Amino acid sequence: MKPIYMDYAATTPVRSEVRDAMLPMLEERFGNPSSTHRWGREARAILEHARARLAAVLGVSPIEIIFTRGGTEADNLALLGRARTSPDAPVVCSAIEHKAILATARAAEAGGTELHVLPVDRSGTVDHSTLPDILRREPSVVSVMWANNEVGAIQPVLEIATQCADAGVAFHTDAVQALGKIRIRLDELPVSLLSISAHKIGGPKGVGALFIRRGTEISPMIFGGGHERGLRAGTEDVAGAVGFATAIELAEREREQTVVRLGALRDRLEAALRERVPDLVVNAESAERLPTILNVTVPGADSEALLLTLDLQGIAVSSGSACSSGAVEPSHVLTSMGISPDMAGPSLRFSLGHETTDDEISHVISVFPQIVERLREMSAR
Ligand code: PLP
Repeated sequence: MKPIYMDYAATTPVRSEVRDAMLPMLEERFGNPSSTHRWGREARAILEHARARLAAVLGVSPIEIIFTRGGTEADNLALLGRARTSPDAPVVCSAIEHKAILATARAAEAGGTELHVLPVDRSGTVDHSTLPDILRREPSVVSVMWANNEVGAIQPVLEIATQCADAGVAFHTDAVQALGKIRIRLDELPVSLLSISAHKIGGPKGVGALFIRRGTEISPMIFGGGHERGLRAGTEDVAGAVGFATAIELAEREREQTVVRLGALRDRLEAALRERVPDLVVNAESAERLPTILNVTVPGADSEALLLTLDLQGIAVSSGSACSSGAVEPSHVLTSMGISPDMAGPSLRFSLGHETTDDEISHVISVFPQIVERLREMSAR
């Protein structure tokens, strides 16, 4: 059996259509979009076309899209860019945000900004019951992710966005994991800011975008030659932008089909593991979840040992979020859901993607229960 990659929430391979669209930009159409000669003008036209393609998928105007060097940078720009517009105002985020938001919010707090962290319930859904009180304090930004990267729980962004819009407060959502799995039409949703990243949907790494709704004031973080409407200096990555535009169009075109196919595979994996692995717990099971993520706790089996044994058998999954793997502490997402460190420790995330097949799911179902049994026996000795 070929090695099985089941870590698509960490990153995805670049799709062949994306590579083919990018290659000419790396070779003959290599110009700097700021140059006035023909190479520059050609690069500028291609970059602006890529921006328009992204904007069309999201239902916004091209001038509302700022290209960034990935989701992390888009999140930083949204949070710090807003916080800097009103330094005395608090900022708000949820307890299960990706570190790209949480660590940024903590950095703002260390600089003197007041931070409110919204709790989550046992299902992994953000509890926004205290938001009306917090909104009275006029925060510079409220940031709640659309879908969680570790457990896949989908958040009540429409309700929170509406609450914020009614209070005249900027709302940001990190849609890095939602993109390609959930319909995102920003002409129908009152969000002020939204982050996305190309490498989670078959695009290149290090390419992202921040949607900034017209009229939302924001301060830049990277200064220089005034690129990206003065909000993100640095020579633009034209190839990356074209790759992102191609990937987002493909993801949107295939979204409904993807959700049905991968949802059925994930459900089959989940049902089989529940049946065959005694005491296995599915985290965030009662939440509405992304169809591509399955996060389980396997009591009595060390998650690092599980990861390594699966890796030796050619199966790649992750424990906690990939961006923080290597860290030994249990996932902040699971512990903030009220899961004890004992149960949060032995957790694993399977994440499915475009290349996942039925045979791969069958293979994981056939080997995983035996691996767990063996590791449990070893740790009981
Ligand atoms: N936000 C979420 C929810 C993510 O899952 C990730 C990546 O894992 C990021 C932000 C960071 O995106 P990038 O890797 O493009 O910096």
